[in-house]
Amino acid sequence: MAHLMNTYARLPVAFTHGRGAWLIDEAGNEYLDALAGIAVNGLGHAHPRLTAALAEQVGRLIHTSNIYQVREQERLADRLCELSGMTEVFFGNSGSEANEGALKLVRLYGHQHGNPEAQTVVMERAWHGRTLATLAATGSEKARKGFDPLPSGFIRVPYNDLQAVEAAAAHDGRVQAVWLEVLQGEGGIQVADRDYVRALRRLCDERGWLLMIDEVQSGIARTGRWFGYQWTDIEPDVITLAKGLGSGVPIGCVLARGRAAGVFGPGSHGTTFGGGPLACRAGLETLRIIEEEGLMANAAARGAQIRAGFSAALAGVAGVKAIRGQGLMIGIELDRPCGELVRQALAARLLINVTQDSVIRLLPPLVLGEREADAIVARLAPLVRAFCNAPAA
Ligand SMILES: *Cc1c(COP(=O)(O)O)cnc(C)c1O
Repeated sequence: MAHLMNTYARLPVAFTHGRGAWLIDEAGNEYLDALAGIAVNGLGHAHPRLTAALAEQVGRLIHTSNIYQVREQERLADRLCELSGMTEVFFGNSGSEANEGALKLVRLYGHQHGNPEAQTVVMERAWHGRTLATLAATGSEKARKGFDPLPSGFIRVPYNDLQAVEAAAAHDGRVQAVWLEVLQGEGGIQVADRDYVRALRRLCDERGWLLMIDEVQSGIARTGRWFGYQWTDIEPDVITLAKGLGSGVPIGCVLARGRAAGVFGPGSHGTTFGGGPLACRAGLETLRIIEEEGLMANAAARGAQIRAGFSAALAGVAGVKAIRGQGLMIGIELDRPCGELVRQALAARLLINVTQDSVIRLLPPLVLGEREADAIVARLAPLVRAFCNAPAA
């Protein structure tokens, strides 16, 4: 590790292989993976159908160029539009890159509609990525610190607060878009109120703004619907996807419909790698497997099972403030910072994460079985109980 830039405080473990919801380390220890590479490995590890499809694709074509037609890209775009009701897609390679595309779309839309200084309303505790513009849109001061000057064009307001959006627009007539996660991931598994999202939809329609939903973490069946916004029965103008789409092969995309469609033209945006045959094959195969194996329903059922399991196992434990989430996007909020639980869980052969200092975050693979779901509760609940009952340090 001596030659790696020091951007991660890494846990002392390296994995050699995996299968399903399990990862095996260099010493042969087996870990139950309740994080899935941060919502990436929806199909778990080494899914046989995905492995076979990717091997076949690698043996045929990995990359050509967006100078040419790419059939896998066209097919994946068709499928994503069928599932979302969007009408066009641009493929990149990550969540940040998808979100950069969405932000460029807002700006270009503004220029095309007499608003050359288009502002995007963004949310406190939002997470949109690490590139300069997505970082500027991200709520975390810790992530932004030291990276000024950041791109401008953002107005930050509290989440779940419609009046705050209206007030921001009253103060600045250049607003062109509202951008949010319907279920904040890095922000601590915060679920947007359905009425709030519906009211944002109406507001955007009235004002001619674009409603953009960042589904990078909540998309691809993780919440028990294909996309998290589908719980609110609104249709956004723009959505972005990434994490779960390629099952680990890097891919991200921005999708648009209605007023947001047709904004980009030849030469206005691009990418060398984005939308290549391998990544799009991974996306196509991922969607097919989720559908054919009923993984969306499984995400909903296993998520409900895990939340109920923790509610029972942690009932009456002072220090547990909330157990929340949707499908397999689950947060357990404690009343104090609990980062050390990640190492304790690792020692108990369970992979978890903590976000916002005090929210345990679980993002298990969509293939999680019923007994594995119980095992997550059985391994973690005693650690949480002991942690909460320990005298404050
Ligand atoms: C992870 C994440 C991103 C950034 O994706 P990267 O692939 O890390 O660039 C953006 N938005 C949300 C909601 C995320 O969870």
